[in-house]
Amino acid sequence: PTWTREAIFEDAQEKNVHFIRLAFSDVNGILKNVEIPVSQLDKALDNEMAFDGSSIDGFVRIEEADMKLYPDLNTWTVFPWGSDDRKVAILICDIYTTDGEPFAGDPRGNLRRMVEKLDDLGFSAFNLGPEPEFFLFKLAEDGNPTTRVNDVGGYFDVAPVDLGENCRREIVLILEDLGFEIEASHHEVAIGQHEIDFKYTDVVDACDKIQLFKLIVKTVARKYNLHATFMPKPIYGINGSGMHCNMSLFKGSENVFFDADSETQLSETAMQFIAGVLEHAKAITAVANPIVNSYKRLVSGYEAPVNIAWSTRNRSPLIRIPAARGKSTRVELRSVDPAANPYLALAAILGAGLKGIEDEMVAPAPISRNVYKMTADELVNGGIDKLPSSLSRALDELEIDSVVQDALGAHITANFISSKRIECQEYLHQVTDWELNTYLEQY
Ligand code: ADP
Ligand code: MG
Ligand code: MG
Repeated sequence: PTWTREAIFEDAQEKNVHFIRLAFSDVNGILKNVEIPVSQLDKALDNEMAFDGSSIDGFVRIEEADMKLYPDLNTWTVFPWGSDDRKVAILICDIYTTDGEPFAGDPRGNLRRMVEKLDDLGFSAFNLGPEPEFFLFKLAEDGNPTTRVNDVGGYFDVAPVDLGENCRREIVLILEDLGFEIEASHHEVAIGQHEIDFKYTDVVDACDKIQLFKLIVKTVARKYNLHATFMPKPIYGINGSGMHCNMSLFKGSENVFFDADSETQLSETAMQFIAGVLEHAKAITAVANPIVNSYKRLVSGYEAPVNIAWSTRNRSPLIRIPAARGKSTRVELRSVDPAANPYLALAAILGAGLKGIEDEMVAPAPISRNVYKMTADELVNGGIDKLPSSLSRALDELEIDSVVQDALGAHITANFISSKRIECQEYLHQVTDWELNTYLEQY
C-alpha cells in the first residue's frame, strides 16, 4: 500500500496507536529502534528524530555520532498486539546525516542506491521472493532457549497437530493481517524446522518484510513458550536453515528473465545475471553467510550448496532455476542464510548480477548431475569451484572483489570486514566441546 502522512495519522487514531517504533538495521542485520509516543509522530514524519549513531554496530565513531531517521511512509505497520487502547506501530527508516545527506553506512539506504542503478540499465524492478527457514525450540524452566525441539515432524508432514504447528499458524495469520501475501508454510526437513514463504515484491520492500518477519516469528514463538531461531546451523548432523532468494528483473510488468523463444526459455539477460552472480559468488558469501556458524550449514549432504554451479533441475548447486516460466521465471540463489543482513546480501547479489549484464558475461553450462555425488576430479575437470569454507576465507574474497565492494559501498565494506575479522579471531581461539570430547581423554 502507499501511505500518505494524513492516512498514517488517521490510521494511528483509528487503531489507537500509542507508540511508534522507528526502526532500522545495523550492519549485522539486527533491527534497532527508537520508540516514540504518538505525540511525537509529527516530528518523526518531519525527519526530525535524531539518535546517536556511534552506539550502533558498524555505523560511525563518536565524533560524528548524530544521525537522523527518515521514516519511509510506506512501511507503516500496526502490530496486532498490545491492549486495544495502546497499540504499537512501526515505521522503517532510512538514515541521514545531520547535514541531510543519506548516510553511507545505512544498509537499507545502500540497497536503495543499488536499486536506482536499474533505471540506467532499462529495468524497472528487482524482485525478491525469500524462503526463510527457522527452528522452534523449547524454552527451559528458567526461560532460556534450549536446542530441544518439541515435535518429531518431517518435510511436509501431517503429524498430529503440535505446538509448533499451532504457533506457525498464528504467525501466518498475523503476517496476513500485516499485509504479507503468504504463499506457503510447511514443516521443513529437520525436526522442529519450519518455513514460511511470502510473495515476491520489490527488493527493498521484501527486505523490510524479512526484518519484520523475524520479529513477528520470534514474538509469537515466545507466546507459545518456544524460541524461534534463524541461526543457520543450530544442530550438528541435521539440515540447517537457509533463506533461498528467488529473484527476477522486471521491465514494467514484463519479466525480462523470460524468453519464450530460447531453448531453456531463459533470456540472455537472465544468463548474464547468473554469470555475474557465479563470478562473484565467493565475495557474496561474506554477506550472504555472515557468521561463523553459517559455514557449518554450507557443507555437503544437507541440501545446502557447496559448489559454484547452476542447474535447471537439481537442488544441489548454488543456483537453481525453478521450472516455472512466464512471469514466475526466476533465479534461485540457495546459499543465502537467514543470519544475513538482507539489505547487504541483496545489494551484493544485485551488484554482481548487474555487472554480469553490463559486461555481457557468458554463464558456464548448467550441470544436470547431483554435485554432491561428483568426485573432486570431476569437479576440477568441469571447472566447478567451491564456495569459501569459512567466514575468514569469504572475507579474503570480499577483500579482493571490487564489484561486491562497490555494491556495499566503501563505508559498509570497511566496517563489515573489520568487525567480522574480530568475530573470526574470537572464534578461532575458542576451545570447543568437540575438541574436549575428542582430545581430553586421548592425550
Ligand atoms: P521452491 O519450492 O521452488 O523452492 P517456493 O514455491 O517455495 O519455491 O518459493 C517460491 C518463491 O519464489 C516465493 O517467494 C515466490 O513469491 C517467489 N517467486 C515467484 N515468482 C517470482 C519472480 N518472478 N521473481 C522473484 N520471486 C518469485
Ligand atoms: Mg525450504
Ligand atoms: Mg527453494
